[in-house]
Amino acid sequence: MSKPIVATTSLAGCFGCHMSFLDIDERILDLIELVEFNKSPIDDIKTFTKKCDIGIIEGGCCNSENVHVLQEFRKNCKTLVVIGECAIMGGLPALRNNVAPISECLEEAYLNCVSVQANDEKIIPNDDELPMILDKVYPCHEVVKIDYFIPGCAPRADLIWNALVALVTGNEMELPYEVIKYD
Ligand code: SF4
Repeated sequence: MSKPIVATTSLAGCFGCHMSFLDIDERILDLIELVEFNKSPIDDIKTFTKKCDIGIIEGGCCNSENVHVLQEFRKNCKTLVVIGECAIMGGLPALRNNVAPISECLEEAYLNCVSVQANDEKIIPNDDELPMILDKVYPCHEVVKIDYFIPGCAPRADLIWNALVALVTGNEMELPYEVIKYD
């Protein structure tokens, strides 16, 4: 019988949610038995080669490339799961939403910040190849429909594991206290 196919990506996040996913330790051997991976930084497959059953998203959308990738995931995955606060609420990258217009954020980051060095020409990156920065950081559900939300920063490995196993097997998800506490 063919295995369910899983894809994952990191948008505007820190990769901590993927690191937490890998914290399932030796269960990674069970995972390989349970699912097949497609597009993911875990296997370094960069583009979808087939339709997937489950897409797992870390991070929100801070630029046009994030939006494009998220829309590709919605198109290619039957079920979309967001993991972590960045994907659910924008998280740390979304702190800029309440500080200043994007133009002021860029000036501070590239021109005025005390730690800016080696930018003698005072240039804000503007190469055509760069994705367009959005006016604010958007949580994933404001861009596409999301089916499931796994909270935490990062969600515990056990929580990600339990959720994935429940989705793949169709069994009820186990949520013992130790798995969902956030202290
Ligand atoms: S939710 Fe936390 S761990 Fe996950 S990408 Fe955001 S900052 Fe990193």
